[in-house]
Amino acid sequence: MTNKYSEIGKHVIILENKHDANLICVEMEESLVFIDTGRMYDVATQFRNEMEQRFNKKASHLFITHYHFDHYGGISAFKDIEIVAAENNYEQFIADINYHLTKDKRKKYVEKWKEQTEKQKLDISESRRIHWKYFSLAELYSPTKAVVDEFEFGSNKRKLIFKVTGGHSKCSAYVYIPSENVIFIGDNLAIDPERKEEGALGYSMQFYRLGLNNRVLEVLREIEELPANTVVPGHGPAISKGHMIKIREYFENLFEVMKKLYREGKKPEELSENNKLEKFYDNKLESWEQIIKQQYTTVVKEETRRELELRKRQMLVSICAKDLGSYLSIYTDNSEFIFPNEHSLERKESFRDNFLGFNQIIEQEYVAEQYHHLENKIVEIGKYSAKFKSKEDLMNYEKKYVYSWIKENNEWKIISDMTISERVF
Ligand SMILES: [Zn+2]
Repeated sequence: MTNKYSEIGKHVIILENKHDANLICVEMEESLVFIDTGRMYDVATQFRNEMEQRFNKKASHLFITHYHFDHYGGISAFKDIEIVAAENNYEQFIADINYHLTKDKRKKYVEKWKEQTEKQKLDISESRRIHWKYFSLAELYSPTKAVVDEFEFGSNKRKLIFKVTGGHSKCSAYVYIPSENVIFIGDNLAIDPERKEEGALGYSMQFYRLGLNNRVLEVLREIEELPANTVVPGHGPAISKGHMIKIREYFENLFEVMKKLYREGKKPEELSENNKLEKFYDNKLESWEQIIKQQYTTVVKEETRRELELRKRQMLVSICAKDLGSYLSIYTDNSEFIFPNEHSLERKESFRDNFLGFNQIIEQEYVAEQYHHLENKIVEIGKYSAKFKSKEDLMNYEKKYVYSWIKENNEWKIISDMTISERVF
């Protein structure tokens, strides 16, 4: 195993490993802080010890850029210090380490993966070998501090800003150190470890498969506004901000073309013959056709969600105007309605008597919490809330819903409307 240290200025050391996430040490005035752990707790322990000796300071904080195993798997090396991560997905992370991903379960997963690979006689990459070994061995701990938006540490002379941004995952965060002009952005970017400035602009797409979306590009644009000029990705070497901008522009242009293709009704399997994508082709990217299809799938999903959001805005307008006709036009003729009092209706015609009878809506909103893209439909789980005037009183209404959407004559329509719970208060 080859560990390589890179120094960025006097106070920042990066431990790069081409098969794992970057580990970072930052010397603050009073202590050392670490960013991400990689998967290998023994490597993380060794890195921490070496840095504590080198700077003659003790570690005080670990910052986790997001809850993916390659970024927190070595967390046991830092179990005695403050561990900071995002509030988003925190509950899920706790559920994972205490239930879905206990050590026993992780061991069983790895055994199954090994069996499958042997059966199919596949080659096992070094990264996978490392993942399997440490996934079954790791002792996992929960963060001691869950950050909703932003957390600052240090003095004005050397300050660290941890900011939750989302993007690659809901819990993605960056760590920015103004005095060093450097920002650590986790997996909102990945750079080919073999190549740097001359590297393939689309490498992140090759690396992440499904983790590169519109929000990632928004985050990169936000980061461009900061005065930092060195950007350290979750995987691969540090790059200049100029290089990051080139990557962001490459993806922005690619996404625009993909959105156009989606509007033209192109299926993922029809993409390879499409010459509009040719200018994005880079022979340094492996299995180009496959990754471009995967990226297209992500773009199509996001476009679909945008369309559903527009559809719900139309519903809000209809409710406000008490326009039942326009409201019901968003439902298929044979749609079913299921209510929490064990009452249900088949066909929207019978829904007419049940239309929301709010006197006057003051404000209302839909918040979609989950979208499940299934073969022929999309299932949306979310919350609708409204403030309304009933006689002289201001009241609140809240419901948890599950909508099943299908496309009918090129328009999204609800085929099943379930209200899981509702309350008026
Ligand atoms: Zn990663």
